[in-house]
Amino acid sequence: MSYKSDIEIAREAQKKPIQEIGDKLGIPTEHLLPYGHDKAKVSQDYINSVQGNKSGKLILVTAINPTPAGEGKTTTTVGLGDGLNRIGKKAMICIREASLGPNFGMKGGAAGGGYAQVVPMEDMNLHFTGDFHAITSAHSLLSAMIDNHIYWGNELEIDVRRVQWRRVVDMNDRALRQINVSLGGVANGFPREGGFDITVASEVMAILCLAKDLQDLEKRLGDMIVAYRRDRSPVFCRDIKAEGAMTVLLKDAMQPNLVQTLENNPAFVHGGPFANIAHGCNSVTATTTALKIADYVVTEAGFGADLGAEKFMNIKCRKAGLAPDCVVLVATVRAMKMNGGVAKADLGAENVEAVKNGCANLGRHIENLKGFGVPVVVAVNHFVTDTDAEVAAVSEFAKAQGSEAILSRHWELGGEGAEALARRVAEVAESGTSQFSPIYPDEMSLFEKIETVAKRIYRADEVLADKKIRDQLKLWEEQGYGNLPVCMAKTQYSFSTDPNLRGAPTGHSVPVREVRLSAGAGFVVVVCGEIMTMPGLPRTPAAENIHLNEGGQIEGLF
Ligand code: ADP
Ligand code: MG
Repeated sequence: MSYKSDIEIAREAQKKPIQEIGDKLGIPTEHLLPYGHDKAKVSQDYINSVQGNKSGKLILVTAINPTPAGEGKTTTTVGLGDGLNRIGKKAMICIREASLGPNFGMKGGAAGGGYAQVVPMEDMNLHFTGDFHAITSAHSLLSAMIDNHIYWGNELEIDVRRVQWRRVVDMNDRALRQINVSLGGVANGFPREGGFDITVASEVMAILCLAKDLQDLEKRLGDMIVAYRRDRSPVFCRDIKAEGAMTVLLKDAMQPNLVQTLENNPAFVHGGPFANIAHGCNSVTATTTALKIADYVVTEAGFGADLGAEKFMNIKCRKAGLAPDCVVLVATVRAMKMNGGVAKADLGAENVEAVKNGCANLGRHIENLKGFGVPVVVAVNHFVTDTDAEVAAVSEFAKAQGSEAILSRHWELGGEGAEALARRVAEVAESGTSQFSPIYPDEMSLFEKIETVAKRIYRADEVLADKKIRDQLKLWEEQGYGNLPVCMAKTQYSFSTDPNLRGAPTGHSVPVREVRLSAGAGFVVVVCGEIMTMPGLPRTPAAENIHLNEGGQIEGLF
């Protein structure tokens, strides 16, 4: 049997006009700002007007540590949203927007897959409503204003060797990682080293996703540290006087984008911060607004639960006053097998033993998530090659862990395939069993916060950090940043900092290589491994096969 590609399925979608989708949520037409026929932003006035509504139930979709076999968090988020609507619940989903650059590197979109997708998926993966372009512009304005300030006399006494603020572009372009700027003579300024990150790695992106409203956005932009003086005192964005104009550029980008699933159910697609140097979930505005207009909101956090869910809970929920009612932990038989030592090429053959051996990783995530006080339902995202015996092995394991696993066939069947999952998740979310709390208090010292995550989530024995790093953390505490949460940046492939250590490792150490203060976003980034803020393209970029066909349709994107 052959299956259609994601883009083929998406093209056949029977989309409804976006006003009809808004209608389902009770959003009056005058508060929908349409971008074509199938996308709309929701007005700030409307967002303000629903603040007094009762909040719906919040469901977080997360996953085991990713393997090259693929897990399908977004696909499951979309499928569960459709499943909830099918069983008569007023549900919507909240996911991230896609970064444009990576689409031209490796195939793989951000809109879900199979019969669980958000449409228009081509738009969503390309320019969409221009939010990321606005972020690139706002970021670039500040970059230009900093060098302009230096050019006109550098009244703030910025040490040109210590300019922290880099430049951004939404493209995978490794040639720009480290560059020299202001070359070419007196008229072009003072030469210095600079470099580019990809747009989604900008602190502006993280701020857009955490800000409560436009006032909060402007304040946080002003709080960003852009450079240091020779005496190491910080120079803020506010000192450059850029935050007002940046807010103007970001005004529309702050409004969530409404689109629909293949089954015409509402979805907010908004924001997309990096999941390593930032927190990796969609915007607070979208999630909090969705909770006011739907009874169930299904959202996703990036990477595995050790990174994505941890940051969702300790950063996003803490800062936005959100509390998840249920966590759905996505696992696949294929990923269990890979964790159990099977090579990718051999995943097609039944291997119940390997599934059982690979379940340790799942078990650790279940335990960790329960540590946040939130009930966990395991969703087995069904691949058509999975056998009943393999699925049963995962179910038995989950049961033995005091949890439960439910098979979900949304990729193949859409919302219908996710009905069982939807029923159980709705029941758990309504049960009132969730007693959410972050795993460390604001008052704890920054180093102890790092230790808490390393020991309780990664199950490491110790955190290794040299004196320079510990002193830096102390200095930030003295400067008033001690109450911030920590944003861990480590490999997504393992609980440890070694990407090859699968399963549920113990006894390892977590070396901290570097710490960075994101004073505007409001967290301290803790770098525990190689981190990449400007990806490159592979030897054969997907772009080589992307083109328009004779009918003007996009080919080769997914
Ligand atoms: P994540 O959000 O975890 O990164 P996605 O949901 O985006 O993963 O899925 C990644 C890819 O895997 C997509 O191309 C999707 O079509 C595919 N995929 C997801 N679930 C299944 C499934 N059950 N069967 C086959 N392919 C799937
Ligand atoms: Mg995803």
